[in-house]
Amino acid sequence: MFKKILIANRGEIACRIIWACRELGIKTVAVHSEADRDALHVRYADEAVCIGPAPSSQSYLNIPQIISAAEITNVDAIHPGYGFLSENPYFAEVCKECNITFIGPSADVMRMMGDKSEAKRTMKSVGVPVTPGSEGLIDDEETAIKEAEKIGYPILIKATAGGGGRGMRVARNRDELLNAYQTARAEAEASFKNSGVYLEKYIDNPRHIEIQILADNFGNVIHLGERECSIQRRHQKLIEESPSPAIDYELRQEMGRVAVNACKEVGYSNAGTIEFLMDESGNFYFMEMNTRIQVEHPVTELVTVSDLVAGQIRIAAGEKMSLTQDEVMFVGHAIECRINAEDPETFIPSPGRITTLNLPTGPGIRVDTAIYDGYFVPPYYDSLIAKVISHSRTRERAIARMRRALEAMVVEGIKTTIPMHLKILNDPDFNSGNISTRFMDRYQT
Ligand code: ADP
Ligand code: ADP
Ligand code: MG
Repeated sequence: MFKKILIANRGEIACRIIWACRELGIKTVAVHSEADRDALHVRYADEAVCIGPAPSSQSYLNIPQIISAAEITNVDAIHPGYGFLSENPYFAEVCKECNITFIGPSADVMRMMGDKSEAKRTMKSVGVPVTPGSEGLIDDEETAIKEAEKIGYPILIKATAGGGGRGMRVARNRDELLNAYQTARAEAEASFKNSGVYLEKYIDNPRHIEIQILADNFGNVIHLGERECSIQRRHQKLIEESPSPAIDYELRQEMGRVAVNACKEVGYSNAGTIEFLMDESGNFYFMEMNTRIQVEHPVTELVTVSDLVAGQIRIAAGEKMSLTQDEVMFVGHAIECRINAEDPETFIPSPGRITTLNLPTGPGIRVDTAIYDGYFVPPYYDSLIAKVISHSRTRERAIARMRRALEAMVVEGIKTTIPMHLKILNDPDFNSGNISTRFMDRYQT
């Protein structure tokens, strides 16, 4: 087992990884920007290294600085968390060259899955149903029109390097397509330094259903069921739950089998997620694979009574998976609300000092967070400040528990999205499980 791990991240996920290391008896090194000197992950880690100024480009994305920190502190491995460098195959390669284990899959698999168009091609070739769309990238307008007519409108133009809900545009007809095609390419170039785009059929009222995978370095692959992530705003997840109210035992087996086979075919190892879109008839289509731990991993941890982060570490250390598919248990229902430091109406970020804080506790409530009373939420990073996760025997009770928890949660000094979550939790369609990725349209201003 590793003796010391550097966590190349910040916020709640850095703390989450430190907890896992503590339980495994592994020493930890935090890295932080100048703006994060007072951050909780810095206090919790055994050692901390400042890696640069506040902007991520000069700190949490600064590979030479992170590697130097790892060498000075003599760590065995680096956990990248989510976001930042977690899906950067070049970073994984640099780690390897420096004899530091990157806690994630191989750089080759990351590269293949990191290009979304390429990933679809690969998945299709190993028998996974994929969202109908263009074969590969679209390099000019004529091809765009031809492909769009073949697929049928409405069309979604997607950046092949896209992520975090960004780099997507809908086109309902030829004119919109021509317009959107050029803007999409320019935006993709500006945001991801890669102008490659591809086309997908825009699926009506779909659900976002994803399968959690764990795979070791010996070819053992298991799935830990699905997460329903249909409650989204601008393609970004707000609430996730497991199990999905739309999935029964047979469909879970089927989607799990497809996901496990796909991972075996591409030689995937470590934790990963295969994201599917499901249409109103229950057909599911591969959308993309995330080659890292996901924000919403706690809902899976609660219903399967597992520790995915510890699993990642043990797998990266070369252990054989201790769990077989038959031993994976599913207990009750879990829901996660992502609490952001944002105005609940406009979603404009609301950084600043927290003057009063009361985090919810009690039966079936888990809070993953890095905030504390008097903490200053810096304006430089993602506005996620806490994840509240509820667990109970049934969906109905998990919702009741979440409502109770969020009603008791107090964060003063900044605005948060708690009121928005309470609105959703009181929505009749949400309560009956009648949801799709269009659910939030009704609340949009
Ligand atoms: P998940 O896929 O784990 O449910 P997200 O899709 O929101 O969650 O991505 C995880 C985190 O990584 C988020 O905090 C998001 O801000 C960040 N992220 C993902 N991709 C990008 C990107 N291309 N640019 C900036 N941030 C990103
Ligand atoms: P990202 O890399 O940003 O996570 P995804 O490809 O996973 O991008 O898509 C993000 C979200 O966009 C999905 O969860 C879904 O809500 C929506 N979406 C993506 N593709 C389609 C599609 N073909 N039809 C309808 N909605 C889609
Ligand atoms: Mg996605």
